[in-house]
Amino acid sequence: MRLVLGTANEGKIAEFRAALEPLGLELLSAGRLGVPPPPEETGATFAENALLKARHYFGATGIASLADDSGLMVDALEGRPGVHSARYAPTDRERISRLLEELHGIPESGRSARFVCALCLLAPGSRIEVEGEVEGTILEAPRGEGGFGYDPIFYYPPLGKTFAELSRKEKNRVSHRARALDRLRNQVTRPSRP
Ligand code: IMP
Repeated sequence: MRLVLGTANEGKIAEFRAALEPLGLELLSAGRLGVPPPPEETGATFAENALLKARHYFGATGIASLADDSGLMVDALEGRPGVHSARYAPTDRERISRLLEELHGIPESGRSARFVCALCLLAPGSRIEVEGEVEGTILEAPRGEGGFGYDPIFYYPPLGKTFAELSRKEKNRVSHRARALDRLRNQVTRPSRP
């Protein structure tokens, strides 16, 4: 089966390929097919945004399409930056600064957060929606050089490191995207009922 990947992010494309090609899926890049990116996300949830993006690519190509939406939810900020994670400030560095300022003075016990990833796969006659989450805490200063986005301030207690201190392989084992992809794989490979 062919599957259009609705993202231009090289890191995500590599992660999706590693998870889905072993299932025999042939992944096509939306950019290479000449499909422009969707309009700015307007949904109130990650799941809504993933569905909007998947509809955009499925509508344009008629080929089964997979789209994602992800971000960081901080409990002390009532779930912000949430669906606004990518637009919270102009650059990764400024997004991190803004978040750290907003959490200024809040002790470690009040700095819980989670990364969330919603995936939506639309194919003729079927729709699969899954979510993956990973829990951590927000540090008071960035640590580590790897990853992207909010990784340097997202501390993952089970490994005692920030996401930016994990190898790519380690992050791909525990991340919100990895967990969502696991669930997607389970649904795609589940035998259909007669
Ligand atoms: P998306 O590309 O629309 O899903 O936006 C995701 C935004 O959430 C990114 O720009 C990052 O700021 C943040 N984000 C999502 N996943 C991660 C991650 O694995 N590490 C760090 N930041 C992430």
